[in-house]
Amino acid sequence: MDKIYDIAILGGGPGGMTAAIYAKRAGLDVVVIEKSVPGGAVATTYEVANYPGFTTISGMDLATKMFEHTQSLNIEFAWDEVKKVKVEGEVKEVECYQSSYKAKTLILGFGASVRKLNLENEKSFIGKGISYCATCDGNLFKGKTVAIVGGGNTALEDCFYLSNLAEKVYLIHRRDEFRGDQILAEQVKNKENIEIVYNSTVSKISGDTVLKSIEVLNKVTNETTEIKLDGLFVCIGRGPDTEMVDGNLTLSEQGYIVTDDCMRTNYEGVYAIGDIRQTPLRQIVTACSDGAIAATKAFEYIKTHKK
Ligand code: NAP
Repeated sequence: MDKIYDIAILGGGPGGMTAAIYAKRAGLDVVVIEKSVPGGAVATTYEVANYPGFTTISGMDLATKMFEHTQSLNIEFAWDEVKKVKVEGEVKEVECYQSSYKAKTLILGFGASVRKLNLENEKSFIGKGISYCATCDGNLFKGKTVAIVGGGNTALEDCFYLSNLAEKVYLIHRRDEFRGDQILAEQVKNKENIEIVYNSTVSKISGDTVLKSIEVLNKVTNETTEIKLDGLFVCIGRGPDTEMVDGNLTLSEQGYIVTDDCMRTNYEGVYAIGDIRQTPLRQIVTACSDGAIAATKAFEYIKTHKK
């Protein structure tokens, strides 16, 4: 007979790892299924400066510390990618590319994937000039010219990070006010080799075997300008990834999973945490908080459903 875990946690980000720590310490049999590295989006964040206990810490270091914490409790990780999740019924099923898992409860924490600009030839330049992760690919552009698209915290942080590597950095934002924190915006505005291009979007990408230039459309004047560059970093946020869930989860208008205060979805024994959840704030601390609540509620659910 297949093993049935108490909890299968889908996604090894900060929320998933926190849920695993709470679940394991409560004596539950838990598996964390993660397709790449522990930490999720945090692992590719250059610097985290708002997680209590660390004045500043690199995202990778914080993710590693969290992972080490899980390993000190012998929490099982399955390095596998989820293909399909069955949320109905008493025993939930998770089909992955390498194996399948069964569990009494599920905690959905697979975050959100990066948004694309959806320009005609965007895909063909991925890895040939276009990147969605400055901390992963920034080093390839030492002494070169790059542009970043976006106006949130990721774009501002990545812009500053890249300005210490590249010779010239353009920051292209579709409005004249940043969505990201003022402290980060000031840092960017005061850096000599950063040029901010407000009220603008990228309208065209050009190159041959690699990216060579972009066309930028100013939405106020309707003028287009060509910028010659070596790299384009797209940092325009993330969107929820729920297609693999087989069932009718209640979603918000933007596609995020709706939960109650206890992280419960509309399916019994199924919880959602972190960036995939409809929430007023998407931060590492809020994801951790979601994880702790979900694990605690899953524990109570398992106890009351024990036969
Ligand atoms: P975000 O906050 O959703 O910002 C996305 C940015 O991209 C916005 O400025 C948005 O413009 C712009 N944008 C969206 N779609 C676009 C399009 N099609 N074309 C051009 N621009 C587009 O995403 P994020 O910066 O990745 O941050 C995600 C979450 O993580 C946020 O809650 C953020 O605070 C958090 N975060 C925190 C830290 C930190 O605290 N250290 C670091 C990184 C991320 P508009 O402003 O006009 O909508």
